Amino acid sequence: EKIGSLTRFVEPIVLRLKALEDVGQEFDQLTVNEYVPGVGLSPHVDTHSMFTNVLASVSLAGHTVMEFRRGEEKQALLLPRRSALILSGEARYAWRHYIPHRKTDPLEEGRAVPRPTRRVSFTFRRIQVNPCNCDWPGECDTRKNEQLKILPRVEDAYVRRMYDAIAPHFSSTRFSRWPKVVEFLNSIDKGSVVADIGCGNGKYLSTRNDCMFLASDLSVGLVNVCVEKSFDAVAADGLNCPYRDSSCDAAICIAVVH
Ligand SMILES: [Zn+2]
Repeated sequence: EKIGSLTRFVEPIVLRLKALEDVGQEFDQLTVNEYVPGVGLSPHVDTHSMFTNVLASVSLAGHTVMEFRRGEEKQALLLPRRSALILSGEARYAWRHYIPHRKTDPLEEGRAVPRPTRRVSFTFRRIQVNPCNCDWPGECDTRKNEQLKILPRVEDAYVRRMYDAIAPHFSSTRFSRWPKVVEFLNSIDKGSVVADIGCGNGKYLSTRNDCMFLASDLSVGLVNVCVEKSFDAVAADGLNCPYRDSSCDAAICIAVVH
């Protein structure tokens, strides 16, 4: 949400930046940071969906060395005092940028240059109104959010309904218990409360008669198989379990994540 215009004294900077060929837009958002020696900036890509393609950062009072990383590739860039860094395209969307948390910066000749006592950065951005449409979908939060919206539908159609349909058959073919899981369950203290997330046909629920099992599965068909065997099971999403925090002594989640 826009809360108003930028403060008057930065207007000349905004206009000078806008006049640059690589900018060509008017910034409407400003972040001011003060850096003292030893303080840096953690690696990040500015959120795609929040800001447009071009970002500008003006270094005042002192210089710094900003580093850029993409996969194994790394670049360092000196940002002199009173300079403006313009980031756009691949550098803005795909490379992480950061300022190492240190008090001196090594130069190629082996010398170490101390950080200035103070650097103030004015970072200008423009709020992005539409979803991001960049060429780097792997780094793009707009695209990742779209995928997250699709996933529950895929899971519902191809996982939950599939298990509902095959539950009786699935159950009759899944009776042998994995030894390591049994070994783990047998190591738990008597009287423990044990969650079985994604309990399937409940083949582990009878492992310990002296523990209390809270069983759940996404598939109602499989939960019904458990209920028919007189187990206490509920249909629930394993990512949103209907249990209070810290209410179980142990939990198993076997062959659920593929
Ligand atoms: Zn993007």
